[in-house]
Amino acid sequence: MTRTVAPLVEAIYEDVVRRNPAEEEFHQAVREVLESLGPVLARHPEYTELKTIERICEPERQVIFRVPWQDDRGEVQINRGFRVEFNSALGPYKGGLRFHPSVYLGIVKFLGFEQVFKNALTGMPIGGGKGGADFDPKGRSDGEVMRFCQSFMTELYRHLGEHTDVPAGDIGVGGREIGYLFGQYKRITNRYESGVLTGKGLTWGGARVRTEATGYGAAFFASEMLTARGTSLEGRTVVVSGSGNVALYAVEKAEQLGARVIACSDSAGYVVDEGGLDLEVLKQVKEVERGRLSDYAERVRSARHVAGGSVWDVPCEVAVPSATQNELDGEAAARLVRGGCIAVSEGANMPSTPEAVQVFRSAGTAFGPGKAANAGGVATSALEMQQNASRDSWTFEHTEARLERIMHDVHARCAEAAEEYGSPGDLVVGANVAGFLRVAEAMHAHGLV
Ligand code: NDP
Repeated sequence: MTRTVAPLVEAIYEDVVRRNPAEEEFHQAVREVLESLGPVLARHPEYTELKTIERICEPERQVIFRVPWQDDRGEVQINRGFRVEFNSALGPYKGGLRFHPSVYLGIVKFLGFEQVFKNALTGMPIGGGKGGADFDPKGRSDGEVMRFCQSFMTELYRHLGEHTDVPAGDIGVGGREIGYLFGQYKRITNRYESGVLTGKGLTWGGARVRTEATGYGAAFFASEMLTARGTSLEGRTVVVSGSGNVALYAVEKAEQLGARVIACSDSAGYVVDEGGLDLEVLKQVKEVERGRLSDYAERVRSARHVAGGSVWDVPCEVAVPSATQNELDGEAAARLVRGGCIAVSEGANMPSTPEAVQVFRSAGTAFGPGKAANAGGVATSALEMQQNASRDSWTFEHTEARLERIMHDVHARCAEAAEEYGSPGDLVVGANVAGFLRVAEAMHAHGLV
């Protein structure tokens, strides 16, 4: 750990580590929030008396379950499913499901913990939760993915409900998986409960802009940070990591805002094209064909594919890490800063290691932490829930305008809290403090529950 925190907060952190052994990502996420809260506790002694931080660090409920299913060869497969219902002070648990072989309890808890503060920052009535499974959808047929989703939901459904817990997508869970999950939920419960899942298809209760929302939001957030510094995205070179849901739409919105996106990546390497990526081909390869970036480079001759390399070797003015946690380390951050990077907007959850965040802060790089910069996804999920509750359907333009406004407000909340609690311009502190205060106030009002 690179920085010290107030002794009380340090003691809470040590207790979290002791009670949650071998969950490194969860420890990292907790540490980052606690480091910001010293000045808050000094001003609010009631949160110490009521052990509000200790309660926030303990999920309200954790569900772990067996997911048996049969593959196309008739072989039985067993996976492990998770749902961590972290905090419901502000509304029903809300947060995505991740299907990836790396998923274990520590990852789900880190994501659920981040989600609590992120959801608070949106200003909307949603609590925080997260779930998933150690299932790898790569190379699986549609039939296998469907059978897996059906088995997963056969256990999970009893914990869900539009007023209880409302999952969405995350890594490995997109429109196809949400469809299979919703179908099974509807079949088991015999209820057309649209508001129980978000990220649904447009013909059966989904909201326009939800697919685009996280990536668009991360680009809007980059634009907000640059505007606050008296400049803009216009004409800037941008590098986005990943080429999944968040990354593709971060590319799209950054381009619409006048930037030139020159590189993106997947788990096998990256593509770079100084003239700018061809988004149409990129979407065809990654979204439609579920292919690799090497396929993109074969079709777009001006692009160069680098197998196995780090996309952070490509110098840029604005970085939007949108793949996965801890993908951008201290050395990569130093390279980016040396290469002229002036802003980082985290599309993914916790993509920058603590060392990388430290490099960006020391260099004065504008830095938007994931819990603020990627909040547009969950905020638009909350808009989907609103539309489901009122059986309404809004236009793309109306919904996008709401999203843009929400990202503006999230940035403003972070900036104001940072200023008020003695760290002007530090959006990491601002996001943690503003998120914490909203959740803590509600928990205080609800008594010891
Ligand atoms: P997708 O599954 O659509 O895409 C993930 C992308 O990241 C893929 O290009 C994938 O490469 C790459 N990737 C995943 N894991 C690794 C890894 N270990 N090493 C290198 N590359 C990797 O996921 P999303 O776009 O939905 O999610 C991306 C990030 O954004 C995650 O951190 C998620 O938690 C966060 N997020 C997502 C939201 C959403 O609305 N979807 C909302 C808020 C945050 P490959 O194609 O090779 O698998």
